Amino acid sequence: MRILLVEDDQVLGDATLRSLQHAGYAVDWARNGKTADMALGDQIYDLALLDLGLPKMDGFEVLRRLRARRSKLPVLIVTARDGLEDRIKGLDLGADDYILKPFDMPELLARIRAHIRRIQQESDSEISYGALSYDTTSRLVRINGLPANFSARELGILETLLMKLGKVVTKELLVEKLTNWDEELGSNAIEVYVHRLRKKLEPHGIIVSTVRGLGYMLEKEDV
Ligand code: CA
Repeated sequence: MRILLVEDDQVLGDATLRSLQHAGYAVDWARNGKTADMALGDQIYDLALLDLGLPKMDGFEVLRRLRARRSKLPVLIVTARDGLEDRIKGLDLGADDYILKPFDMPELLARIRAHIRRIQQESDSEISYGALSYDTTSRLVRINGLPANFSARELGILETLLMKLGKVVTKELLVEKLTNWDEELGSNAIEVYVHRLRKKLEPHGIIVSTVRGLGYMLEKEDV
């Protein structure tokens, strides 16, 4: 899951970044509206957290441009408690929700989970595949009904594969889903994580198969 954090306040941005990373999200932090607009134009995100008062281009304009490109990306605007007009304007421009400053991190994380779940699956939040089941809300993976342990990156790969069952997932998409701007993750590193994932899944009849030259896909062993 990849989130774009748009915030010019250093302290708030830093605290939010760390909470999101701790929760297992890959996060890019844009400190002004121009950077945010460019990032939203050419990178893939699952959600954006958008401050309104920003240098270079305000949050309203970032949002207006995003929706003009017909993007359905969930956007949560972050606004001051007394900014009722801003909230209304933001929602009119196509924001999905707003959160008031100052906010509690657990509340922010709960809102983010709710929006990601909504966009991914209109109703059902559980994906089952062979011995695997995955709850997109709690991000908990079970194998034969028992909670399974995966590192943040193994989980990132597995959830991407589960979201695209029956389709090939490219290494490039996996790199995009797992990293932020400050990180470099080569396709060799992806291979290492896939290798670890295989070791954990194969005993349960789930195979991460390599589609040569393209990427990976999830398959079930014939029992
Ligand atoms: Ca601001």
